[in-house]
This record gives sequence, C-alpha cells and structure tokens, in this order.
Amino acid sequence: LTRMYAPLTALANARVEIMSALVSFERVFEVLDLEPLIADAPDAVDVPNPEAGVSVRFDDVDFAYPSADKVSLASLEEVAQLDSRGGQQVLHHIDLDVPAGHMVALVGSSGAGKSTIASLATRLYDVDSGAVRLNGIDVRDLTSASVHRTVGLVTQDGHLFHDTVRANLALAAPDATDEQVWDALRRARLADLVESLPDGLDTVVGERGYRLSGGERQRMTIARLLLARPAVVILDEATAHLDSTSEAAVQEALAEALAGRTSIVIAHRLSTIRAADEIAVIEAGRVVERGDHATLLAHGGRYAQLYRTQFGADDDPEALTA
Ligand code: ADP
Ligand code: MG
Repeated sequence: LTRMYAPLTALANARVEIMSALVSFERVFEVLDLEPLIADAPDAVDVPNPEAGVSVRFDDVDFAYPSADKVSLASLEEVAQLDSRGGQQVLHHIDLDVPAGHMVALVGSSGAGKSTIASLATRLYDVDSGAVRLNGIDVRDLTSASVHRTVGLVTQDGHLFHDTVRANLALAAPDATDEQVWDALRRARLADLVESLPDGLDTVVGERGYRLSGGERQRMTIARLLLARPAVVILDEATAHLDSTSEAAVQEALAEALAGRTSIVIAHRLSTIRAADEIAVIEAGRVVERGDHATLLAHGGRYAQLYRTQFGADDDPEALTA
C-alpha cells in the first residue's frame, strides 16, 4: 500500500511546492493534469486594477491547520496528519494592512505563524473567519489564476522541476524571450553558472539532472520572481541559503524586484527589516506589536527583546529571528 501511495504522495507534495515556487499555476495544473482543490466561486472576478498596484489586507483572520475541506493543495501526508494536528488554531485575529507599494516585515520566533500568514496571502488555504483581501476584494471572490498571477511567494526551499533551466524559469513567464531569461539570470547572479552548464539554458536540472546547490536553487526561484514581476511579492526567508558573497548581490536584485511593489517579507536580516514601512511582531499566532524599527526599539517590548537577544552578545549582527 505504501508503495502504491508513494508516487501519489510525491505528486501531491510537488503540488504544494509548485505553489510556493512562483510559477504559472494554470500552466502547472495543465502540465500535471490536476485540478486545484479550491474551486473558483461561480462569479469570481480578477484582481481589479493590478496595474495601479495591489494592496493586501488581513481583516481579523483566524486560522487552524488543516481540515481536509479547506486544504487547497493537500498532500496525502498532510491528510494523514489531520487527526493528530487538525483543529489547532494557529492564527488569532490577525489584522494587517499593506497598502499598495508598501513593505511589511514579519518577525517573531520560529513557529509563531509567519509562514502561515504568507500562505494565506496566496490562498493556499482559506481562513476560518475574517478575510484576506487584495485591492479590497476577498480572495475567495477572486479567480485563483488572478490571485496567483498577482501574488508571488518565494520560500526558502527553491523547488525545481526535472526540466531545463529555461522551462523552470518560463513557468513564471511563458512568453519570456531568451533575452529576458538571461537578464533575470544575470540579476539573480546565475548567468555565469548557466553559461558554464553543458547545454546552457537547455541543461536539465533538478533531482535527477544537473544538481544545483541550495543557494543556486534559491537564486533560480529569485530569477523566476524577476521574470514574473508580480504586483505583490512575499518573501519567506528567501535568502536563507545564500552565502554572504552571493547574498549581497541577490539582496540587491531582490530590492530591485521589490521596488514600488507591495511586499510582505519574513526576514532575518536587520537591513531588510529596517527598510520596511512597518514591522509586525508575531507571537503565538497574534500580532503583538507593530511599528517601525526605532519606535519598536524605544517601546522596549518584544521587538526590543528579540533585537537584544540577537544583537547583544551575538557575533552575527545581521541575524534577527529564527
Ligand atoms: P513560522 O513561519 O513563524 O515559524 P509557521 O507559520 O510555520 O510559523 O507555523 C505556525 C504553527 O503552525 C506552528 O505551530 C506549526 O507547527 C503549525 N504548522 C505549520 N504548518 C503546518 C501544517 N502544514 N499543518 C499543521 N500545522 C502546521
Ligand atoms: Mg516560517
């Protein structure tokens, strides 16, 4: 039985990873011949006016993982765990307002709920109460194609398909020219590497192909982001695997990709957090403090404490959260 299920599980897990990998969702479902489990409402509309920028709002959101009916892309493994961990409320009364073009940083210890907030913004799951809105419209009233075009999520584990570099990047932007692909690779500091591959853009990468390092995979997902240029960018510790030499360069590319866009960043670098318009401190599924860096430090609360524990005796002056 396990054997029979294994490929299915792998496929279902791949679906979740695909969602996190910033690709064209319609295309992926087409390729895999799968239906997303969250269906569009009959009168669903596209995100209105994305050209003018897109705001993200969490209105009093409660959320618990996962009961089978609200898992949009359930893996069989997750379903198997429903009994043991279903029902536990993870987010409580989350209010977040990210006006178009603003950057909000989420900080807080591991397990606080930051990644969960990120996944709700791309409607990987539906909320239990309250609403997540893009340009004022509840995501449940939006077409999923439009939501996924509008909101790009980059996580720390860059997932690549067993396919060529070109195909992996083109998923995010099927109409991209080679020139645009090379430009994105250059900006993600991957052009030299791809040039050195036996077949350049046509080199097959992934588990059974040319194996890229964690940092290289992550830069590949950043290249996808640079190609797709969604109106809303969510970075969930997106530079966690980069070494310090590539980190500075890629931070620069990311900053460029974020400029003028709406973003929610879950970051462990103080420089990123300081650049945010607002910092929200998340603790046990609640927003416990919000404000800018200086205000929060002066307030002497949880943020100040996080800052002290990470920057006081710490020899890495850039790290902030787990
Ligand atoms: P953070 O990103 O701040 O470290 P998460 O959002 O990943 O926190 O996790 C918040 C809580 O939700 C944790 O208690 C975690 O164990 C739980 N959790 C995260 N992902 C899942 C999941 N897929 N199923 C069930 N529980 C989960
Ligand atoms: Mg996380």
